[in-house]
Amino acid sequence: MSDQQGDSIFSDAIARLDQAIQYADIDREVVEALKHPKAALEVAIPVRMDDGSQRIFRGYRVRHNDTRGPGKGGIRYHPQVSLSEVKALAFWMTCKCAVVGVPFGGAKGGVIVNPKELSRLELERLSRGFIRQIADFIGPETDVPAPDVYTNAMIMGWMMDEYSKIRRQRTPAVITGKPIPLGGSLGRNDSTGRGVYYCIKEIEARRDWKPREIRVALQGFGNVAQHAARLLHADGYTIVAVSDSRGGIYKPDGFDVPSLIHVKNESRRLKAVYCQGSVCETIEVDHVTNEELLELDVDVLVPAALENVITAENAARIKAPVIVEGANGPTTSEADAILFSDSKLVVPDILANAGGVTVSYFEWVQNRAGYYWQESEVHSKLHAIMSREFGAVYSLMMDKQIDMRTAAYAHALRRIGEAVEAQGTQQYFANGQ
Ligand code: NAD
Repeated sequence: MSDQQGDSIFSDAIARLDQAIQYADIDREVVEALKHPKAALEVAIPVRMDDGSQRIFRGYRVRHNDTRGPGKGGIRYHPQVSLSEVKALAFWMTCKCAVVGVPFGGAKGGVIVNPKELSRLELERLSRGFIRQIADFIGPETDVPAPDVYTNAMIMGWMMDEYSKIRRQRTPAVITGKPIPLGGSLGRNDSTGRGVYYCIKEIEARRDWKPREIRVALQGFGNVAQHAARLLHADGYTIVAVSDSRGGIYKPDGFDVPSLIHVKNESRRLKAVYCQGSVCETIEVDHVTNEELLELDVDVLVPAALENVITAENAARIKAPVIVEGANGPTTSEADAILFSDSKLVVPDILANAGGVTVSYFEWVQNRAGYYWQESEVHSKLHAIMSREFGAVYSLMMDKQIDMRTAAYAHALRRIGEAVEAQGTQQYFANGQ
């Protein structure tokens, strides 16, 4: 992403805050403070390549706000990473952590690299090199990274190990999303999809849905979409469409989701199949493009792949009355206005996909305590938080007759505002003179 695009994401996000403040009943100083990331670090990472040459990579870590707790946010590896994009993503993390009430601020990191061009050893050297450069900027009490685009559990394990070597003490709580044997949390892998599922269950209860009658389309079929689809399918929901970067498949009477997952993960391709044991047979389906998938006549749409897919251009053609944002930033602000006037319910990303950061928080807690929970405990604690925060945002939306995104930002602002105000605002200091 270019600096210009990053700047526009940041200003878009700030505009949403400005809209939300009137419903949050907090001091304007809070919003002003949030417009300025607290600290940004830019580093050069020298890496010895397999052919003996040295390449220098650029990396960033931004801590947006840590009033409510240490910064929290992923590290992405992508050729289009830019400082302004990392700032915008760090801002989003401040809001997301506040929406679900986990005691973290917002942060984000990125390295400009196409990881597919590196060997495994080069990738390990780069990951350790990045940590060496940012080691004084992160820490269990200051800023806690996690995986993001093109980084994974193994990379988090290398990073934790490198940080521990620098500090000369094992420090698992410096990073989350680690492999389980290195201090990762059970239940982290499906936590974001599970959070999406819990949001849909909340709507089910409020709208008196019968799961079998509810048709769901998901854009994407990666980590988030697969787990959301699996849980919904097990509950009786009818999953009628899924997609990947090559396009989508549609079956009005619903897919056998475990078979789809099996084949997608075996072949890396999305094929409509029915499997019995290890024997899978292809079944008849319609093929749809990713654009057509968004406009299908379904009851729930879950965009769980890319940013900016619901825009002013296609928003009026979206038929699903409920949209649950598994992806970050799938809906533009112009589209938001159209969807709201069409009475669509959009469960915003900062709530709908916050299951991941919530279980990251659980991982950090377990690392610090040195005591590890059962998976069922992770699930029930996640469920309690998603259900409680969904309820709070939903009530605010109904009460103020606003869209759910504005309500989620107002809810986040209230929490951040309380923390900022607890240290004193202009009103407090001016009255004391
Ligand atoms: P993933 O890499 O596992 O899956 C991404 C999916 O998107 C894949 O199925 C891929 O084929 C599909 N895709 C790629 N390009 C596409 C295109 N042009 N059109 C349609 N589909 C395309 O990623 P993920 O972890 O499932 O993340 C999906 C989204 O959710 C991202 O926006 C991510 O930032 C967000 N998210 C993920 C988590 C998490 O814990 N994994 C947490 C919060 C938010």
